[in-house]
Amino acid sequence: MHVLVVEDDAVLADGLSRVLSGHGMAVEVLGNGTQADLVLQRSEQTEVVVLDIGLPGMDGFEVVRRLRARGSQVPVLLLTARDAIEDRVRGLELGADDYLVKPFATAELVARLKALVRRNTPKPALLALGDLSLDLAAKRARVGDKTVELSVREWAVLEYLLQHGARVVSKQQIIDAILPWGDDLTLNAVEVYISRLRLKIADAGVTIRTIRGFGYMLEQTPPAS
Ligand code: CA
Repeated sequence: MHVLVVEDDAVLADGLSRVLSGHGMAVEVLGNGTQADLVLQRSEQTEVVVLDIGLPGMDGFEVVRRLRARGSQVPVLLLTARDAIEDRVRGLELGADDYLVKPFATAELVARLKALVRRNTPKPALLALGDLSLDLAAKRARVGDKTVELSVREWAVLEYLLQHGARVVSKQQIIDAILPWGDDLTLNAVEVYISRLRLKIADAGVTIRTIRGFGYMLEQTPPAS
């Protein structure tokens, strides 16, 4: 996940860069609005922007305004001052997607950036493996031609596993991916959803394998010989 951080407070920018990198994000830091505008015109890599408002060169409002005027959909999270309600309103009206009031908890920033990128990622219409299929538009799960009833959380876990194909995902990744920001869920709860899903998709020719110490992955069951 490529993040562009535009913040002229060098200490804050440096801290953000370290925290976001620590979460596996590729971070580019700029301290100037004019530079940010140029980089955003050229870069197609940027998946989300963290944007301060008061910046040398061009202010954050103008950066967002120009970005949207060019038709870009890249999500923008504004950093605003505590008492500046007008700034938040103006930023959102200009096309920013979210904001955080300084000072903020970095965990909240990370969660919100992930949510913004997730919302902006186009989803395929159908995810399938073996006889298991999820119709994402109709929100229908099927094993063969039989519909399977899933709870909202079970659906979210299964969708996440299917999105990752044959890659191993950890319980924490599942939690981060399926929860709206602010909700809480234990690792044990993930185990419960996984065991329910195993029962429900038992006939699909697909197994949710436990990779001890790492997490889970979906695997097609070899046909019985
Ligand atoms: Ca500033």
